[in-house]
Amino acid sequence: MTDRPNVVVVLARCRYSRQPFGVRFEEKLPGRWIADWAFAIQEQAASREGYDRASIEGKFGFDPDYPGCPYCFARKLVRCGHCRRVLCYDGKEGQLTCPWCGASGRVTGTAGQVDVSGDR
Ligand SMILES: [Zn+2]
Ligand SMILES: [Zn+2]
Repeated sequence: MTDRPNVVVVLARCRYSRQPFGVRFEEKLPGRWIADWAFAIQEQAASREGYDRASIEGKFGFDPDYPGCPYCFARKLVRCGHCRRVLCYDGKEGQLTCPWCGASGRVTGTAGQVDVSGDR
């Protein structure tokens, strides 16, 4: 057994620019993921690294040093309730459209643990 942290890089997409970016999540407690880094990446490179196939289950939150979306600087992320992929989120209320699958819905849940759910 090692005590190396469980780290996953998930491919997210900017809601405004639709550009992909990688988000580094660390599992601090079982099922409790903390985003601590985000970086712009080409989709091809992400797929070569397997980032586009990575996903996290459970709740997620943000490290105080999490830099936000590299394109629009939104400080948060949400997970789409339809495709389970991740997109940037600026914390404003209202309707969101998923840049991955086109589903739109309202953000539900509390900050950092939110899913987009609703009608396609
Ligand atoms: Zn963004
Ligand atoms: Zn989606």
